[in-house]
This record gives sequence, C-alpha cells and structure tokens, in this order.
Amino acid sequence: MIPNHSPWIKQLKRTRPVVPLDKDVSSDVVIVGGGIAGVTTAFFALRNTDKTVILVEATKIAHGATGHNAGQIASYFERPLSDLVEEFGAQLAIDGQRSVESAWILLDQIVSEAKLQTPLYRFTGYAGLSRFDQVLLHLKNSRYSVENRLIPESIILADHWDRIVDIPKEFKDLYSLAPQKDLLQLLETNNPDYIACLSYQKGCMNSALFSEELIGYLIATYTDRFSFYEGSPVTTIRLKDSKASLEVLAYVIEAERVVLCTNGFENFSILNEKGAEIDTKFHHSVSGRIGYMSGYVEPLNNPPVAISYFPETDRSSSDPTGESYFYLTRRPHEHDGKDSYNLVCTGGPEKVLPNGAEYSGNDSYSEDARNVIDEFLRSNYNKHPGETEYSFCWHGLMGYTPNGIRRIGPEPCNPVLLYNLGCNGVGILPSIFGGMRISRFLNNEHVEQSIFDPQDQSCKI
Ligand SMILES: Cc1cc2nc3c(=O)[nH]c(=O)nc-3n(C[C@H](O)[C@H](O)[C@H](O)COP(=O)(O)OP(=O)(O)OC[C@H]3O[C@@H](n4cnc5c(N)ncnc54)[C@H](O)[C@@H]3O)c2cc1C
Repeated sequence: MIPNHSPWIKQLKRTRPVVPLDKDVSSDVVIVGGGIAGVTTAFFALRNTDKTVILVEATKIAHGATGHNAGQIASYFERPLSDLVEEFGAQLAIDGQRSVESAWILLDQIVSEAKLQTPLYRFTGYAGLSRFDQVLLHLKNSRYSVENRLIPESIILADHWDRIVDIPKEFKDLYSLAPQKDLLQLLETNNPDYIACLSYQKGCMNSALFSEELIGYLIATYTDRFSFYEGSPVTTIRLKDSKASLEVLAYVIEAERVVLCTNGFENFSILNEKGAEIDTKFHHSVSGRIGYMSGYVEPLNNPPVAISYFPETDRSSSDPTGESYFYLTRRPHEHDGKDSYNLVCTGGPEKVLPNGAEYSGNDSYSEDARNVIDEFLRSNYNKHPGETEYSFCWHGLMGYTPNGIRRIGPEPCNPVLLYNLGCNGVGILPSIFGGMRISRFLNNEHVEQSIFDPQDQSCKI
C-alpha cells in the first residue's frame, strides 16, 4: 500500500494546535473552508472591508486540494480561450482571462503586505505539442489574444515539420520556426514527437505553506475582527432573509454572509428558508476528479521550471474539458535538513469520482498511476535518472464545475450565500482573484458581470 504523502503538507511543520468551535458565535461574514480560496478570501475580506470574519475548516488549514496539488502557478483555463469566446462572447471571455492574470499582482501584494517567506519561483514555462490539431487550437487562441491585447503564448514550430504548409495563412504572424533540437532542449525531452513549443509566464510555490503562513498573519494582525476554527465541519447552512446560521459540531454560527470555499458542495446541506429552493442539481453540480502526482528528489543542478507535455496519443483517461496531458515542475527543495536539492513533481493521471462516492485523503495511492507517471518520465523527460525512488506520491480532489470555470459570487437564489469554489484543475490564481472579487461583493460595490458569476435556471439575477 502506498500512502498519500504530499511534499507540501510535509513542509508545513506546523505546531499550532487544532482549536475546534466550542461555543455559539456570530460575525458579519463566515468563510467555510480553509484552503487557499478560504484563506485569501479572508485576507481580502479583512483588508478591504471593516467586517468581522470567522473562518471554519473541517480538518486543518490547507489539507485539501491546496495541500495536494502540483503547486504550479499558471493563468490558463482548462478550456481553450476560443471555447470561452463561443460560450460567453469575446468581451467576457477576455475579461475572464485578464482577471486570472491579474491574480499575479494580487499574489505579490499578499506576499509583500504579509511579509510571507514561502518561496515563490517565477520563470518562463513551456508546453510541448505533438499534433496538428493541438497547434491549430493554440494558434486560434493566440489570434484572440493578440486581437484583444492580451499577451499571447509564444509558439515555436520545428522548421522541418511537414504540416507547416497546412497551417492557414491567417496564422502566419503568430509563430516562428526553429530547428527541432532547440525546441526539444526547451522541453527537456529527446522525444521527437514534439513539433511545437509554447512558452508563457509560470511559477511555482507550496500553496499549503503559503496558506498556513497567511493564516498566521491574519491571526496576528486582525485580533479584534478575525477568528478561526479547525476540526469544525459545517453540516447545515440555513439561509434566511438577510442572514444565515451554520451548524458546526454542537454549536451555531450566525452571520450576515456565508462564503463557501469548500472546493465542491459535498458533506453539508444548504436550506434556503427565504424562498426558492437552491436547485439540488446545481447544488451537486461540482463533480470530483482525483489527480495523482509523484515526486522525486535530485541534486540542485537545474533551475526551476514548469513544462506540460501533450503527447501524440491521448491516454485513455478522461478529460471531458479538453486534452489530457502531463505536467512537470522542478523547484529547490529542502531534504534531509539540506537545501541543496530539487524536487521534480509530475502529474497527469486522473480518475473520475463516481457520483455520490466519497473521496478520502486517507485512501492509498494508486500503483497504476505511479507506473503511468514513471513510464511517461522515462520516455519524455531527458533529465530523468532512469532508476528513481519516488519520495512522494500523493493524490488530491479537484472539484469541476460543468463549464470548467471557477464559481465566484453571490448565489442568485439568495445572495446571503456566496461562492469561491470549483478548482477545475488550475485553481491557485483563480482562488486568489476570487478572494478579492468576493471582498467587493461584501462591500456592496457594483461588481461587473463576469464568466465566474454563479448561474441558476430557477433564480435569474
Ligand atoms: C492533483 C492536483 C493538482 C493540481 N495542480 C494545480 C496546479 O498545478 N496549479 C493550480 O493552479 N491548481 C492546481 N490544482 C488545483 C488547486 O490545488 C486548487 O484549485 C486549489 O488548491 C483550491 O483551493 P480551495 O481552497 O478552493 O480548495 P481546498 O484546498 O480543497 O480547500 C477546501 C477546504 O474546505 C474544507 N471543507 C470542505 N467541506 C467543509 C465543511 N463542510 N465544513 C468546513 N470545511 C469544509 C476542506 O476540508 C478543505 O480544507 C491541483 C489540484 C489537484 C488535486
């Protein structure tokens, strides 16, 4: 049996005891869930409003997806931009992309104001493409980006590739050509299937360590307006006309607004006493997918990087929102008390969580997933040592919304409830952007329409 062992949780070295809720309490705002979404929502709610805030977490801070991800900071959606344009129209789709990009600045702002020490690496990240349709899709996205003054990905094609002649002329200004060996060098692979290399700004950090450090800052800074409880699962949320009450252990929290930052909707019920029932379908519309990752430690001989690989043949695994791919990050890592190591993390294999099935972080890791990753690394990553022992194998739950977009904003059937949830595979920057956007709703500002707005058939806004 391989245990679920995440390098991010290991780095926490936390000593703070778990303090569960032990009495009835009240506040202006209650945030449910202490992953990066809940903690950054608390940060912006406290910083940008004068509200009192309580954060309740079922287990421990950052032990959900935030403690079990790839830790790659990326600003793409797991859907092509062209798809978003078709669904939402150009303006909203482009604004959505800009919003996620804007979270880079919000991240800097948090780090600098809270004086966080969590290492944050920034670099140019790469992605390798191996098929004509993949290249066309990215060229189409680039066209939208250029036309709407977004920075496009840089696209380099192998100059000997025989399909270059088939690329429509309208895309000619969007790519450059180079010898394939140069592309492969950027992609750190010897696999000649890759005929295109994309590059774009990326980064990496331990989002669990970031969240844990940030909560420490909030506790120390907002002594009179902030409290938080771990080991405190919310079982029922009762929504009334202009307030809510939450059942937690044997106690009740009363608040004017509730912000759900739970990744999905599982494990609690929402009773809307104000009127229209919150559609059960909508309520259960976040579906779970388990992502598997492996990591090994090597000497610190190479700089930090993030590379995605889109292989020629899709693995049989299921990615209804788009293409399946492998993603690799490498970053400095303290090991055996020394900081002269890198940690190389790879993910890709996923399993859909059947409807109604419960995910448990205590479940063992899948040996199949480790073999798939190992096989992938051997045939694609030229710095793979051949024989390697994985120091870490871990899995985490991703909550997918039906359209693959994070849900941020008030519930149309009762705005006492707000959401910042639905990780959709890439969730670090969207969570941070979501936290800032929620603070604007809490301040009763006029907030412009967006692709992140919760939609419900039964209660139109
Ligand atoms: C394998 C994997 C790889 C990923 N890779 C990346 C990546 O490279 N880059 C990226 O940007 N994103 C990535 N993600 C997604 C990213 O990790 C998430 O989007 C992000 O961490 C979401 O944070 P969150 O706070 O919304 O959710 P979580 O971190 O899951 O936090 C939700 C919290 O809510 C709590 N909770 C749930 N129910 C209740 C309740 N009833 N009462 C109280 N508390 C409750 C949970 O205990 C949990 O702590 C990955 C995710 C996985 C699983």
